[in-house]
Amino acid sequence: MIAYLGRIVHDNDAESKLDDDVSSISKSLDLQGSIENGDVSSLASKDFGGLYSVKPLFLIKPSGAEDISRVVKLASRTSNLTVAARGNGHSINGQAMAEGGLVIDMRSTEKNHFEFLPINGSHYIDVSGGALWEDVLTRCVSRYGYAPRSWTDYLSLTVGGTLSNAGVSGQAFRYGPQTSNVTELEVVTGKGEITVCSETLNSELFFGVLGGLGQFGIITRARIKLQQAPDMVRWIRVVYSEFEEFTRDAEFLVTQKEGESFDYVEGFVFCNNDDPFNGWPSVPLDPGHEFNPTHISQTAGSILYCLEVAFHYRNSDHPTVDTAVNGLLGRLRFVEGLKSQVDVSYTKFLLRVNRAEEQVKANGPGDGPHPWLNLFVSKSDVVNFDRTVFKTMLKDGVGGPMLIYPLLRSKWGDRTSVVLPEGEIFYIVALLRFVPNGPSVEKLVAQNREIVNWCIKVGLDFKLYLPHYQSKGDWERHFGNRWSRFVERKASFDPMAILAPGQNIFRRDPSNIIISREF
Ligand code: FAD
Repeated sequence: MIAYLGRIVHDNDAESKLDDDVSSISKSLDLQGSIENGDVSSLASKDFGGLYSVKPLFLIKPSGAEDISRVVKLASRTSNLTVAARGNGHSINGQAMAEGGLVIDMRSTEKNHFEFLPINGSHYIDVSGGALWEDVLTRCVSRYGYAPRSWTDYLSLTVGGTLSNAGVSGQAFRYGPQTSNVTELEVVTGKGEITVCSETLNSELFFGVLGGLGQFGIITRARIKLQQAPDMVRWIRVVYSEFEEFTRDAEFLVTQKEGESFDYVEGFVFCNNDDPFNGWPSVPLDPGHEFNPTHISQTAGSILYCLEVAFHYRNSDHPTVDTAVNGLLGRLRFVEGLKSQVDVSYTKFLLRVNRAEEQVKANGPGDGPHPWLNLFVSKSDVVNFDRTVFKTMLKDGVGGPMLIYPLLRSKWGDRTSVVLPEGEIFYIVALLRFVPNGPSVEKLVAQNREIVNWCIKVGLDFKLYLPHYQSKGDWERHFGNRWSRFVERKASFDPMAILAPGQNIFRRDPSNIIISREF
């Protein structure tokens, strides 16, 4: 069997034989799931970024952890096959791809686990690594009235895909990212072992996999902390013309105790003009609200800031909501007259970006490339970042949201594989570019590179979020003093460098020695 697969791997131009090969391999592997040829038009050769496309050998739709284990063990018996778990393929830079390798479609396992677990007065849900967060939300709230505490803005992402990075949204200042809200994982390691891990059981694997960019194992089940779901959310946006006032208020809100702040805090940068995507019209929450620019001072610059907050409540709390919200807003220094507010159900609030996506798809020209850039920037450098990047390089916007909001390092813990800037407060910056018309993709990718190079050149305390680097030196710099731990974890859990080759951190080497990738 292995010799047979080796022949396919080394001679995989023989397209006509592939159909026969698929059925032979499927039989020999004794898969409960299915296996398809990985042609260039297959799901496995694309991602949301639309910047890269590579041809896998096979796309495997496993029925569960046993199938995944068999696939990884098979790869380990060849000299060069790699395995990439594909969540929902919402990476930007080919991270879920495997050139000439085996791609595992995790979505085929999405229904395997869904168990509500009350344990010692707390509540958890066991879900599949391939489940979409939007399904976790709707099933948890409608069946049990509970919901995970920490989210991403957009929910058509898989549990395993976001846990392999961090999973960040406006609740992370309070509860930490999604990686801080998991208590147990089932993982298939790079040796094909199915292992349950937690903070106390196989803890090095548990923490390694969280934020581990898929390098140490494939998450097949996750136990997620829950909270009682509120009925409603008051969702509010207020505007600032000065960055220092915006950051002062945002930092004030994220450092207050629970019960003394909003339940969600985010923010974004927009242009001080009437551009429909980048300017004033991007602020109002309701089409009926008008943005009235006469409230903005004549001395304001070309860039403005919007703080976005939300307050959770139950229907029975309604009479007290105004008092609580107005009390909090009264402590902020936003531009008077520039406030937009709506009340929506909790699930509608969490599905807001999915809804916006549906509207764009209904009106727009279809899927274009998305050269997005995400960074974490230390509070100590964020004023410099604003001055140079937002006010100068991006003063005309990016054709989509430019998010910026503060997070607290102490909510992340330091045993996971995620790397962060120094200092307690740091900002997430997300440049979510849409390019239906306007500058070419190449120019936008070059502009992203220019921003990152500037950050490196001036010695900014920053890290890429959803990192994408091409050289060993860049990865070493990215991980800094955590690099040796990352390499040790790779040697322990995926010593043949089989997993997640699309991250370009390690490459499979026939001698089975872990080496960092050199290009
Ligand atoms: P994929 O792109 O399929 O995979 C990502 C990586 O994880 C790959 O290396 C893959 O091999 C690995 N992987 C996938 N599944 C598993 C698994 N089960 N076990 C181990 N490794 C696995 N991120 C945020 O934090 N907050 C946001 O608000 C946010 N919003 C987004 C909105 C959009 C429209 C998009 C496109 C992305 C957004 N992201 C956000 C980024 C997103 O969290 C990451 O790109 C995430 O990896 C996508 O999940 P996925 O399921 O599509 O993973």
